[in-house]
Amino acid sequence: MRDSVKTREELLTELETLRQRNAELEALVAGCDKMKAAALIAESMLEAACVHGLDSTILQVNQAFETASGWTREEAVGRTPVELGLTTTEEWLKLDSEAVPSLIEEGSVRNIETVCIRRDGTSFPGLMSWTLVRDDEGRPAGIVSVMRDIIEYKQVEMALQESQEKYRDLVENLNEVVYALDDKAIITYVSPSVEQTSGYRPDELIGRSYIDFVHPDDREGRIEQYHKVLAGTHEPSEYRFLAKDGSHLWVRTNGRAAYRDGHLIGVHGTLVDITDYKLADEMLRQSETRYRLLAENTTDIIWYMDLDLQLTYISPSVERESGFSVKEALSLPLDQLYTPDSIEEMLKVYAEEMALEETGPKGRHVSRTLELQGYTKDGSTCWIEVHLTAVRDQDGNLIGAQGITRNISERKRAGEQLQEAYAREKAAHQQLQTEMKKRVEFTRALVHELKTPVTAMMASNTLLVEELPDGPLQRLAANVQHSIANLDKRISGLLDIARGELGLHKVKLREAKPLKMLGEAAAEMEATIVSRGQSLVTSLPRTLPPAWIDEERLHEVILNLLGNASKFSPEGTEITLSARKNKHTLVVEVKDNGLGIARKHTQRIFEPYYRVENDRQRLPGLGLGLALCKRIVEDHGGKIWVRSQKGKGSRFAFSIPLDTATPG
Ligand code: ADP
Repeated sequence: MRDSVKTREELLTELETLRQRNAELEALVAGCDKMKAAALIAESMLEAACVHGLDSTILQVNQAFETASGWTREEAVGRTPVELGLTTTEEWLKLDSEAVPSLIEEGSVRNIETVCIRRDGTSFPGLMSWTLVRDDEGRPAGIVSVMRDIIEYKQVEMALQESQEKYRDLVENLNEVVYALDDKAIITYVSPSVEQTSGYRPDELIGRSYIDFVHPDDREGRIEQYHKVLAGTHEPSEYRFLAKDGSHLWVRTNGRAAYRDGHLIGVHGTLVDITDYKLADEMLRQSETRYRLLAENTTDIIWYMDLDLQLTYISPSVERESGFSVKEALSLPLDQLYTPDSIEEMLKVYAEEMALEETGPKGRHVSRTLELQGYTKDGSTCWIEVHLTAVRDQDGNLIGAQGITRNISERKRAGEQLQEAYAREKAAHQQLQTEMKKRVEFTRALVHELKTPVTAMMASNTLLVEELPDGPLQRLAANVQHSIANLDKRISGLLDIARGELGLHKVKLREAKPLKMLGEAAAEMEATIVSRGQSLVTSLPRTLPPAWIDEERLHEVILNLLGNASKFSPEGTEITLSARKNKHTLVVEVKDNGLGIARKHTQRIFEPYYRVENDRQRLPGLGLGLALCKRIVEDHGGKIWVRSQKGKGSRFAFSIPLDTATPG
């Protein structure tokens, strides 16, 4: 504000003075019963004034009116204010018609705020008063109007209003709640932000003691604190404020004793919701406690070390694990804590890392795991695993290391035991292998021992069959011949299995025609099947592509399956041999309508020497046939399986790859 502009206080005082003077003048005019006197007084007034007749025609104006309105005395006299367009305000207008009678009744109309319009059309805010002038007999004779320019007052008022609004906006938009309490702790003002914080509208709080909104457990302390603040203490404090929904929130209050005219009137202050901060603080505290508990109770030892390899922190678990107290562990030299080999290892790692620190990328991640041997307080040694990472400052400079040390003696022991167990197992396995080899040797020897006389018997008997004339003797010789051939085959099977168990048995793949092989096997078995009163049906495709197979061995498989089908089926039943190409495999199936196999046996019958219990006594066999089939099919890269139900026949099938079965 410019210096020439009056201060608000000055203007307010001036206005008050004007009002008083006005009242005095009005009293004077009212007391004077002559219009002339009125005109005289008006002339001497500092404010713009007019003397009107009862019809509001202007009879006289003073100098101040001329200055304020721009109308000269000559122009104004004889015209009404409305004619001059002095104002648009209703009171002026009404003066012509209705207001005069009421003015006559009332004697005066005072201090009406209006907009005054000058001759040049400009306007200013004015304060108007009208007073009735009576003649000597007391009859209404005319009217005196006084018009004051209140522009300066208005400006100050606006400035005041603006500053009040600004202040209110500030208070109301603060996140903090602003409050005023009287000396009895009754809330006299609270800013609207309290609603957002507590759910209460200001009008629900004003007039009530603030202690009502303090958590019961905090009340006692609050009353004490309130008296301290009243006594002049000024320090923030925290308490729980009861929100409208019944919950409580943590608030921090900052209040000061408030004075008016030197008298203590209460406390003014601010309140801020710190619930989130309190919660975070609490969580931090809990997590700190948790981590402390963890660090103190874990069997792992947590530590920090500076660049001089000096420990700066070690968790209390060190005592439980090594017997050394925290103090000892922090102060003892390395050679009392670790074996010489381990110290050497540590120094080597340290040197490596320091060299990398020079040459490697800045702030690189360091993470190393070492297995070291440490001493315990009683002098014994224990194995420990140390996992360490680099500690860096804000700029990424290495300032030390932190780590976790774990006692791994148990693990080491368990590892050693495992090693021992493994060595034992290996030895046992080797022994088994040796024994199996011996068994194969034995079987070979046995087969040889058996084969020699069987071969001799076969040769002699073949001659006998040829030489004997047709008749009963020749048939007997042929029977013997058949049995010798059977015996020879079984002896060979025995050798095959023994070899297979040792992985010595291998198939020899050659390009061959599977269809031909299937046909030959069927033809070979047909006689046996028919001789048992059964029939053989073949269901083979017209063509099959050539395949890489061990023809002789697969032939054996089919004979075995057909032989079993016949052996385990009653007379009069049908046996089917079928084959089909399924994508890239050849699937061969032998189906019978025989005894079938219970579910529990279906997997095990492919094991060597496994036979279904009932069949053991009734039907001859060693339980080697299917094991041999499995081995041969698997050597072709194929699979063998059975679908069967007790009493409902069986379907044995195998599949071998067609296009990948190339010689190895
Ligand atoms: P073996 O026939 O010499 O006993 P295998 O290994 O060929 O030995 O067969 C094992 C067992 O599987 C047989 O003893 C029999 O119990 C059962 N088995 C095999 N084929 C059939 C079949 N087609 N029907 C019912 N049971 C069978």
